[in-house]
Amino acid sequence: MIISNLRNNNINRNISDNKSTTAVNSNNCYDVFSRFSLPYINAINSYASAQIVKTPQLSGNTLNDAMNELKNIVFSQEDIKHMQNLGVNVRFNSGKEIADFIKNNNIKVEFDKMDCDGAHAQWDKENNRITINDKYKNTNDPVIIIAISEAICHEVGHAKDADDVSSRKEELDCLALNTLANRYHRRAYPKLFKENSEAEILKNGVNLYTELFFDPDPKKEKLVKRILDKYGDLPVESPNHKTTMQTPVTVGISK
Ligand SMILES: [Zn+2]
Repeated sequence: MIISNLRNNNINRNISDNKSTTAVNSNNCYDVFSRFSLPYINAINSYASAQIVKTPQLSGNTLNDAMNELKNIVFSQEDIKHMQNLGVNVRFNSGKEIADFIKNNNIKVEFDKMDCDGAHAQWDKENNRITINDKYKNTNDPVIIIAISEAICHEVGHAKDADDVSSRKEELDCLALNTLANRYHRRAYPKLFKENSEAEILKNGVNLYTELFFDPDPKKEKLVKRILDKYGDLPVESPNHKTTMQTPVTVGISK
């Protein structure tokens, strides 16, 4: 999620699958919460299309490097189709489109404190900026830098609406963007994704959503549960994020 300025929607609740008893503002959290097994990751990787195999070019400036990674992301047509079949409204076709949107709208991307524990990134409409959890500020771990670029994809999905509201369907659509980016990176950098990362932004963030969106279960029940657990307080739909297609996922998150 990660919208930081849904001021009208300050509903506190527990995140049950995080085993947390701390009430948080659910509108501000982008965390994801369960661990998953290495065999499962390898299965996901082998499911991905032909691998491209590159090496990240890092300069030492974390945000510049994340933005450079962002520009190079190419969503697979097969993956886009997969998302559309789940009922997702895929609103960008590549990392370059996302990077251009950031540039053309003068959106700042900065490290800062998050509004709630566990959030990895936020869209701050009031200040026209995307913030990344400042605990990653000094990272030189390429897989975290790549994960930051994926989280930026999610936030730009929120930014594109230019509104103050979100919804379960909007989160689904934005989560699909970080997942499409993560799928690209799995093909581009298979070695980096060979092992589980302990970084929260990966194990409870972008990697988990690839597992959920590409779960062999045709009903994607874990994905539906995840969205209801995390975003069930939000309305079902918001502008630009209508559940126009009836799929097990869109029906599930509408209940
Ligand atoms: Zn979000």
